[in-house]
Amino acid sequence: MRPEIVVDLAAIRRNVTTLKRLVAPAALMTVVKADGYGHGIVESARAARQGGADWIGVATVPEALVLREAGDEGPLLCWLTLPADAEDGSLSRAVEHGVDITAYTPERLDQIVAAGDCPRVQLKVDTGLARGGAALADWPALVARAAEHEQAGRARITGVWSHFACSDEPDHPANDEQQARFEQALARAEEAGLRPEVTHLANSAAAILRPSSRLDLVRVGLASYGLDPAPDVPHGTHLRPAMTVRAPLALSKAVARGEGVSYGHTWVADRDTTVGLVPAGYGDGVPRHGSNALEVAVDGVRRPVRGRVCMDQVVVDLGGDLPGAGAEVALFGPGDHGEPTAQEWAVACGTISYEIVTRIGGRLERRYEGNDE
Ligand SMILES: *Cc1c(COP(=O)(O)O)cnc(C)c1O
Repeated sequence: MRPEIVVDLAAIRRNVTTLKRLVAPAALMTVVKADGYGHGIVESARAARQGGADWIGVATVPEALVLREAGDEGPLLCWLTLPADAEDGSLSRAVEHGVDITAYTPERLDQIVAAGDCPRVQLKVDTGLARGGAALADWPALVARAAEHEQAGRARITGVWSHFACSDEPDHPANDEQQARFEQALARAEEAGLRPEVTHLANSAAAILRPSSRLDLVRVGLASYGLDPAPDVPHGTHLRPAMTVRAPLALSKAVARGEGVSYGHTWVADRDTTVGLVPAGYGDGVPRHGSNALEVAVDGVRRPVRGRVCMDQVVVDLGGDLPGAGAEVALFGPGDHGEPTAQEWAVACGTISYEIVTRIGGRLERRYEGNDE
């Protein structure tokens, strides 16, 4: 065995099916940007479709093209276009492939329209995240331009959407505020004559915690992979983490009381003990912030990381045991064989599980289980 990421495609299928039932009658988009949050973009999209995803969502135009080139033919939305997409022909290819492309400004809308024959365009309004999307003040001009294109047969406006800033905090006042602004923006679009197929606002946390925000469609990323978008808020939706990261132990040996471990000697053995060498480090996406904080499971037993996470390896405290080289180390996973979850790693590192699964990679080999074929 070599250090590996094992992705359970059956878990993705089941999570998607669970989420689709939860949000019905709204439709469900599975978001597979950033290489499927580290799970593999093509494989994750395929598993999601099998699980019942009506739409797939990605950030960039190149990501959309990867899916089309892999044979995905269903409804597909991207939302982060760049001038380079028009310059290098990617935008034209996306239009040809029937990808829904999001416009934030009249200028980008014109570029999308110029890129091909009657593109499918969605419009995004910024209701309070202050990231992508047209500011409310600029929204009337965008919908007016879109209506002009549509009436002239130059584009089909298929969707109007926005994105929450605080949906993992259901009581945050920004949620109500954003939803109210979205309603106003929709009314504006309707007055301009637009009749989009879908209006959408909710990401994973909102899809689970805020039923009123489900509208026609929810855009679910993290929860599809079985991780909890709002780990501090209780809810009854049962999901299974799809990713397990494993490695063989490279070495185990004794360390005497008083000896420092790893760079900087930030941990000094407080007793005679044994340590094990796990062959994955920050070069593979094990966060250096996890120094002296992460845990792993060696042969199913929890072991703390001692000292700093290095580029290629970490040292764990084996508490006097000496498992042989090749013993199984589970770095994180669903948690049912003693290993921590990505959420536990996130807490230990002061980040979110999104970042843990998305950044893991490097030299780890990715392997798939639970294939439906
Ligand atoms: C990433 C993203 C999502 C998915 O967010 P999750 O919290 O992972 O569900 C939805 N919509 C947009 C615009 C995004 O960028």
